[in-house]
Amino acid sequence: MWFFNSTPTHDERDDLLGRPSFNFRLQIILGFFTFFILSVVITIGAMLTISRIERKIETVSTWERFLYNIEQARRWEKNYFLYGTNLDDALESTANAQAILNENLHYLEQMSIPWPKEELMRDLALYQSSLKMLAPISLQEFNTADGRMAVEADLRRYGAQVVTEAAALAAKEHELIAKWLNIVQKVPVYFLIFLFFLMIYVARFLSLRFMQPLKQLVQHTQRIAKGDFTPVKPARKYRDEFTTVEVAINRMLRELESRQNSLIESHKLRAVGILTAGVAHELNNPLNNIMLSAHSLLEEYDELSKDEHTEMITDIIQETDRSRAIVHNLLDFTRENKSVMQPLDLSLLLNETAKLAFNQARVRGVAIQLDIEPELPAIRGDRQQLKQVFLNLVLNALDAVNKGGRIQLKARKQPNHRIIVEVEDNGCGIPPEVLPNIFDPFFTTKPVGKGTGLGLSVSHGIISNHGGRIEVASEQGRYSRFTVTLPWGATQTAATSDQRQPQEGAS
Ligand code: ADP
Repeated sequence: MWFFNSTPTHDERDDLLGRPSFNFRLQIILGFFTFFILSVVITIGAMLTISRIERKIETVSTWERFLYNIEQARRWEKNYFLYGTNLDDALESTANAQAILNENLHYLEQMSIPWPKEELMRDLALYQSSLKMLAPISLQEFNTADGRMAVEADLRRYGAQVVTEAAALAAKEHELIAKWLNIVQKVPVYFLIFLFFLMIYVARFLSLRFMQPLKQLVQHTQRIAKGDFTPVKPARKYRDEFTTVEVAINRMLRELESRQNSLIESHKLRAVGILTAGVAHELNNPLNNIMLSAHSLLEEYDELSKDEHTEMITDIIQETDRSRAIVHNLLDFTRENKSVMQPLDLSLLLNETAKLAFNQARVRGVAIQLDIEPELPAIRGDRQQLKQVFLNLVLNALDAVNKGGRIQLKARKQPNHRIIVEVEDNGCGIPPEVLPNIFDPFFTTKPVGKGTGLGLSVSHGIISNHGGRIEVASEQGRYSRFTVTLPWGATQTAATSDQRQPQEGAS
């Protein structure tokens, strides 16, 4: 069945294409680029930290070598005080420590945590010079209390200071390395957590960006398959690859709609073809009367009185008016269809429709009976479209009945602001296996050239568009009854707008 759309006031194509473009290719490239940049930043960060750790390890090892030599010197110093030996070894160890410091001074200044350079150098120099002072002292002199005490105190003080400072530096550097290692170990964990959330985001993004438009496209195709040709409207802020598909769908819809309109028109012309025989028959009577009156006037003009002249001319005028009404009714039906909703007198409309078919029925020997409740309320609708529906039902009934058959056209008011129109015939009826298909477009049981299969499908679309419904009840070989329910008043306004709103496609 088909839905009739109100003509769009502006081009949907402009709406779809007028949006700024942000296509999926660009979005994916941007997404991957951001991810790549982030990975590069994290990798470079990790590499820098590892290289700093390596250099820190070197710094620590320098401090440890320095510390080892000082501690070694202090051991030799102890030997010297206990046994008077190893003074040279002590001096050599201090010289080694001094050399380590001198060789790595620049490196330590740059890489090590801030350290008391002046103080350490000074303490080392003082320790070294105190050791050197011991060399020229004889063992005897050395054993005198004064000399021993003075040098020993200096050595102990400066030696201890250098050891403490170097040990503290090495410990601090160790601590720093441990801290950085801890960070480097945590980075992959944080990265994995980040990756997890990124994946959730990407999955959501993909489902929103790809699945939603896809779902909408499926919905559009489903409603198009049902015959709703409402154009696809833009639903997203940006233009993307789906826009091309949507524009193509709209183009296809316009094409389908125009073809459907031609089919409806051709279906209407077929009805006109059927009616013409009846109309020609109906026109015959007034034309004959006009002819007779005109002949009488011409031949007996002088014999007739003035009053008789007037009476005959009035007859001619009345018969001409009748002919004009017949032709007008037919022309009115064939006129190009443009949807116009207006208040309608349904009883008048049904009478006009029946009149169109009366003569055809008379030619076929079928009776059309009208049973229309007086004072039916006015409904809002398209006169031509509704006429087309009822005429189609009557013509179908005419096709179904044999000579002597009967067609009833009934209309009555129902509760809940509804009007029911029934077209019932006592014709062949509809076989149950065919019944579910009769509203499908192009479904017909009539021979080629006689049926198009569009009448009921078009009628269903028109009635749906008026917020109503059309139903059928039939028994094969006995009767067929088509019931059209139409709303009126407030119900109709709500129903017709409800009917149209959901069709508004969104993408
Ligand atoms: P068409 O009249 O061109 O075949 P329709 O859509 O109007 O197309 O009707 C579809 C089919 O429904 C008809 O071919 C016919 O089989 C069946 N049909 C419709 N109205 C009647 C009726 N009153 N009695 C019996 N069959 C009917």
